[in-house]
Amino acid sequence: MVDVVVLGSMAFDSLETPFGKVDMALGGSATYAATAASLFVKPGIVSIVGTDFPEEHSKFLESRGIDLKGVEHAEGKTFYWKGKYGFDINAAETLDVQLNVVEGFKPKVPEEYKNADYLFLGNFEPAIQKSVLEQMAKRPKLVVSDTMNYYIEKDREAVLEMVKLSDIALMNDGEARQLFKTSSLVEAAKEILKLDSKIAIIKKGEHGCIFMTKDSFFSAPGYPLEKVVDPTGAGDSFAGTLIGYLAKTGDLSDENVRKAIVYASAVASYNAEGFSLDNLKKISLEDIDKRVNEFKKIVEF
Ligand code: AMP
Repeated sequence: MVDVVVLGSMAFDSLETPFGKVDMALGGSATYAATAASLFVKPGIVSIVGTDFPEEHSKFLESRGIDLKGVEHAEGKTFYWKGKYGFDINAAETLDVQLNVVEGFKPKVPEEYKNADYLFLGNFEPAIQKSVLEQMAKRPKLVVSDTMNYYIEKDREAVLEMVKLSDIALMNDGEARQLFKTSSLVEAAKEILKLDSKIAIIKKGEHGCIFMTKDSFFSAPGYPLEKVVDPTGAGDSFAGTLIGYLAKTGDLSDENVRKAIVYASAVASYNAEGFSLDNLKKISLEDIDKRVNEFKKIVEF
């Protein structure tokens, strides 16, 4: 039995930032999200890798208590993403995407995942996200989904349908503007709520995020990081922490979701201070609590 089912890519990332570069590092939306969620609960991943995916990466994920029964090993190469960041570290430029084994991927949710109460539908084709949701034995208590420009450009309607099927539809500011054709994030958040999402969370990279429900509004600050080394996976580690924290506490009240957002921002900020999963591998709950307390101080007046 797993607490949180995490769907998303498992990848090799090659990326360059103003502070350095890495080649064929461990990446992928599911990898980041499950590693972050594992700080709080037991996740199980639904994804696909090729024959080139090193045993060492699977061993690391298992060492974090992450169940990998839902990871298909297929003939061929693992998903590959190549990106570049300039001094505006919030925006990644995608230089290359090779779907490889993800092409034609038909996810199969293991029996022991099907009754999980928490489901994170990370970055993948909306059809794959929908298929995983449909394979669950019952509607989970909380369905969080994520999207990105790549899928909005390919099939906007399908992304909108996934927003409708989610309790929390996560996206960043650029994606929200693109999806709802507006420059106002408040208007975009209202559109998310109109699509039946109970909660709209729009991330603003280093500037924090906004949270909106029918009755309330909350704005979380960004952590004042002096040096962002590599923001890759910030969105996914935010999402993994959010759902992991909510699964652990079992409390979906407005107040607790706000707390979960601050925890998620703290983990995402640690992640951005190193390449790939380097920092996610190192941080402890004590480190996170420390940063959450600093967040408190930042907004006190
Ligand atoms: P983010 O949290 O948004 O920075 O996501 C970064 C991760 O998304 C990287 O590790 C990539 O491997 C992965 N990624 C990039 N493009 C895609 C895509 N089209 N579908 C799924 N995952 C992707």
